[in-house]
Amino acid sequence: MGYLSWFEQHANKHKKIVDKLLRLGKTKKEIIEYFCFENMCQNEKDFCPLYAKNKKCHEIEKLNCYMCACPNFRFNDEGIKRVDRKTQYSLCAINSKDGRQGIYGEKIHQDCSKCTVPHHKAYIEEHFDYDWKKMMQKCVVWG
Ligand code: SF4
Repeated sequence: MGYLSWFEQHANKHKKIVDKLLRLGKTKKEIIEYFCFENMCQNEKDFCPLYAKNKKCHEIEKLNCYMCACPNFRFNDEGIKRVDRKTQYSLCAINSKDGRQGIYGEKIHQDCSKCTVPHHKAYIEEHFDYDWKKMMQKCVVWG
């Protein structure tokens, strides 16, 4: 699956859950709490394929899934630019020291596997919006 189709699918899944919680009268704080990994594994099994294996994407104690993916991620399925005869498809806009550019043959993709920035509650509260697409509005790099 390309980045953009994942992005659109994930936006829909996120919206469905948030709309449901808003209909139930949940507050911002309660909605963020609802998105904690343990609760999501139990109640929103389709939100992430890792839930079926009870596996976290990052081994941190209080993993929150509200902001998966990350507002700092940038991508274009057609490629952002050429770098040393390779095509770069994604990058980190803030050059996080915990992220890296992974090289896979001719392709360069951002590797966030060691970065936990968007999974912490404090970060989510600071960058919060009910609309996931608004939070991620800078992620798509249009050609
Ligand atoms: S490296 Fe960290 S801050 Fe950068 S895009 Fe990935 S998760 Fe976000």
